[in-house]
Amino acid sequence: MASLASTRFASRDSTGRMRMLVLVAAIILVTGGLLSGVYRFAQNLKTEYRGTSEAGAFIAATLDHELDLRRQYLETLADEASELLSGRYTLNLDITRYLQPGPEKQGYQLARLPGFGPADQGLLTGSGAIPQTGSPEAHEMSMAMGLTPMFRALKRRDVHLPWVYYRSENDFVYVYPPPETPDGEARFYHVQDLAARTYAHAGPAANPTRTTVWSAVYDDAVGKGKIVTVSKPLYDHGRFMGVLNVDLALQTLVNTLKVRHIRHATESLVGKESGINLLQPDSAVLPASILAAPRGQPVGSGDTRYLVYPLKSANWSLVLEVDHRAMLWQAFRATLLLVGAIIASLACVVLLLLLVRAMRDMQEMSIRDGLTGLFNRRHFDEIAQREVAHSQRNGQWLGMAILDIDHFKKYNDFYGHQGGDDALQQVAGALRNAVRRATDGVFRVGGEEFAVLVQLNDPQHLASLMAQICEAVRVLVIPHEKSSWGKVTISLGATLIGPDNPLPLDTAYREADEALYEAKTAGRNRYMLSPAAARYAPALEPGEGTQHE
Ligand code: GH3
Ligand code: MG
Ligand code: MG
Repeated sequence: MASLASTRFASRDSTGRMRMLVLVAAIILVTGGLLSGVYRFAQNLKTEYRGTSEAGAFIAATLDHELDLRRQYLETLADEASELLSGRYTLNLDITRYLQPGPEKQGYQLARLPGFGPADQGLLTGSGAIPQTGSPEAHEMSMAMGLTPMFRALKRRDVHLPWVYYRSENDFVYVYPPPETPDGEARFYHVQDLAARTYAHAGPAANPTRTTVWSAVYDDAVGKGKIVTVSKPLYDHGRFMGVLNVDLALQTLVNTLKVRHIRHATESLVGKESGINLLQPDSAVLPASILAAPRGQPVGSGDTRYLVYPLKSANWSLVLEVDHRAMLWQAFRATLLLVGAIIASLACVVLLLLLVRAMRDMQEMSIRDGLTGLFNRRHFDEIAQREVAHSQRNGQWLGMAILDIDHFKKYNDFYGHQGGDDALQQVAGALRNAVRRATDGVFRVGGEEFAVLVQLNDPQHLASLMAQICEAVRVLVIPHEKSSWGKVTISLGATLIGPDNPLPLDTAYREADEALYEAKTAGRNRYMLSPAAARYAPALEPGEGTQHE
């Protein structure tokens, strides 16, 4: 009768177990959800920064390319200038013949050479006296003029290139394209106009290794906006001659910085050593600790993170200033979807468990009696059917008893309906205790009628078991004024189903009920066995019952 027992016992514990299960599932899901949420968030943040770092590397590479291009222009110019200075080939014309005094007798200026159109030739201006024909200055000027085709080629190739020029140690300047006044006149170019700093940076004192150097940002002398100059010193047989320069509009750098949009980041160019922002020199100087950070790795604390990329072609670093809070929020938003899915699945699982629990409760309620907690009549019909069939199939002995409280109407009348209910509960408890084996079952089949099913190895045990059940109620000693016993008693009829007595259920029930009737008529407070069952109780004759006290 394993199925009967498991139904009985499982139902008692199910509520607590289910609650525990829901709790454990919720804890596991919440913990798992939180952990995976935190892990995902950290991964998302890493991914966000990786994307920013890659974009920064791309911009830095583009910048390096742009700057390197200018450096290469200059190297080529310097090579060409050396060739021209060496005299291997030269301008076939005496340039000094075309030098004229400048306006207001300040210095001199080169007139348009024969064969040159207005935009073909740059502007050569110098201070002091006009150099002599055949002098080294005149030779140097020829060299500068000889660079004109290259100057022109550079200008054509680079829309943002304001000027290419040679600034001589002999106090003249050759600039291409020729600067113009706002009314379109060729502008006399004072030597002082040229920012001394480009010269100083590249000159022998500041640049003994004679490398290509970049200036700081400055305002163009003729209003072409902010520019930076890349300069290369020119030496002839070890003698410093002057500086070749290519200007770069700051807009070119800014455009390059914008080559890729980086979310939540501001790009800037900062001096590698000075920490000064090239584009906004007034903003705070970046500390050396940040500038020394590993390339493209976020550093810093608080709301700002810095990603630094030292450039190869210039003494600058590209710096990305990242809004860390925006990045956190971005990563969080990306995580929300996952957290939402986890919360939804958690809710689904909990709801499912609650549903299962409610279903089990309902199922439990449908087979239980509300007052005593015993199985009800409906369940008895179902279980008895099954157990009778099972016992017949397996040749197993099954005892079936029907029992009824004696003089219960009188009890109710005397003690009231509530008193009757209390007594019913007590009797039910006693029955449950008397029939405790896992294979047995107790049912409330009517108002004050109960049924008991017991599995027996030996049919002779039936009588003693029935006696125990009657005794279990007696020893409760529930006072019953209106009973001759002075306490609540029961009458019981039992029958036996088994190999020798293969009864169908309704016959077995009728036999047990008849035995109960006999117990009642024989005086109550006793058990009676059906004739079939009595055969296995040698002490009793069929129909004979037991009476106690
Ligand atoms: P007998 O000894 O012959 O069994 O006499 P009886 O009075 O017990 O028999 P009867 O069938 O005439 O009365 C049964 C009574 O049980 C009727 C009813 O008042 C009472 N009863 C049935 N169900 C309940 C219940 O759920 N609660 C209470 N308090 N009383 C009940
Ligand atoms: Mg009755
Ligand atoms: Mg009764």
